Amino acid sequence: MRRLLQYLNPMLHLGDRRYPVLFPLVTMLVAVLLVELLVSLILQAPHAVIPYALYPFVTLIIYFAFRAGLRGGFIAAGITILYYFYIIYTRNYAAEQLEDAINTILILACLYLILGGVIGWLKQRIDLLIDLEAGEKRRLQGIIQQLPVGVLVADRSGRIEQRNKHVDELLGHPMRSQFIVGKDTIINGKYKNKTVKPSQWPLARTLATGKAVSGKEFVIEREDGSQVYLEISASPINNREGRMVAAASVLTDITQQKLLEERKDDFINMASHELKTPLTSMKLYLHLLKMSINKRHDGKEQSIVERISDQTERLQKLVNDLLDVSRIQTGKLTFSKEQVRLDLMIEEIVEVLQSTTAKQELKILSKKPVVVFADKFRLYQVLTNLITNAIKYSGDGKEIEIACKKDTTTVLVSVKDFGIGITKEQQKKIFDRLYQAGDDRESTFPGFGMGLFITKEIIDRHKGKIWVESERGKGSTFFFSLPVEKK
Ligand code: ADP
Repeated sequence: MRRLLQYLNPMLHLGDRRYPVLFPLVTMLVAVLLVELLVSLILQAPHAVIPYALYPFVTLIIYFAFRAGLRGGFIAAGITILYYFYIIYTRNYAAEQLEDAINTILILACLYLILGGVIGWLKQRIDLLIDLEAGEKRRLQGIIQQLPVGVLVADRSGRIEQRNKHVDELLGHPMRSQFIVGKDTIINGKYKNKTVKPSQWPLARTLATGKAVSGKEFVIEREDGSQVYLEISASPINNREGRMVAAASVLTDITQQKLLEERKDDFINMASHELKTPLTSMKLYLHLLKMSINKRHDGKEQSIVERISDQTERLQKLVNDLLDVSRIQTGKLTFSKEQVRLDLMIEEIVEVLQSTTAKQELKILSKKPVVVFADKFRLYQVLTNLITNAIKYSGDGKEIEIACKKDTTTVLVSVKDFGIGITKEQQKKIFDRLYQAGDDRESTFPGFGMGLFITKEIIDRHKGKIWVESERGKGSTFFFSLPVEKK
């Protein structure tokens, strides 16, 4: 019965063109037969046929036009009109009755043909649109399948609507068809060494917030034990009113890239370790050389040794930075935290760095005692780096202001210069690894773009924040905040 109702429901046949002639033809003939049987044999009143032949047949014309298009509408209208003629032929109407009946039938015939025609045409237009959409969908499906990345599309409720074969390849097993994004677990995944919950995957987050998530790196563990690095993005698919109707996610396999990066990091780590030992000896010998030259030789030789010593100092800083970057990459940067007098540390660094520049005056704005819980050596590194940068990028700026404020929960440190400044665009990137906001004006400042990357990592690992406010040509202020208490 349910199947019969489904078969008869015209709405379920939008886009469907099966039996457009046979089904209306047979049904209409059966309807005519039933009406004739009803009035002649059961009711035994052949003249009472009109109400039975009028309303049900109009309904049938509409039904077949909607279900089978123009052909269905015209077949139903045609058979109805023929049946009407059959009625007046078999019911022996008197002459004037006959004329009235023929006129009525002709008017009804026009109405029925128009009714069947208009509805049938509309139905055919709907079918055409459905066809176009289906074609578009198939084309899109074809493109999605050919993409060299995994693609997942989920509806608002998180049900997977589409996915390409790469998704299964990347996951290492076919994805369940009843999978619900945000609730079910696809696979064991880790983000920044932490296990990812179902609601934390980019697609689930996009479905929950309506916002795009771009390029997050995950490591997944497949059933066979192999590890795959994935870069996953997700973005909402909105309707014309801007309401999210679905969301799509792209999964890119970056395993090879990661392995290569790991090998490169290993190499840098090894090379910097190898460089560190001879450099330390070189510094020691240079120190001895300096002492003996000071006693015996003139200014020229002293200045040469001084320059070699400066260059060795720079080389050592570079090697140390390389080692730190490599430690960050491999998760080996460790901290030993203690109570540190930040104000004293700032004074000490300012004294040392003031001796390196005659052009800028380093000013400490407040000298109240401030204690933080931090790694002393690393905090020293952060401050040195920020103040050295302020000197390096000061241009004609004559002053550099260092301030340190404390409230109940945090300490806020700022280093302000009046130098070349940083554009808004560059501000977003300066804390990235190896980023240098270089242009012609700055090509004279040597550096590798590692300092701020290391600085940010140190502050992040102290559960603090670091940011910059700057205007091109006017100068920059670098801020960092640290929690006062142990965390
Ligand atoms: P670098 O070794 O190149 O100085 P950093 O990581 O310390 O590397 O800095 C990254 C980039 O940020 C620099 O190349 C520079 O362009 C920009 N920068 C850093 N500090 C300042 C500053 N105080 N004023 C202007 N630009 C700065």
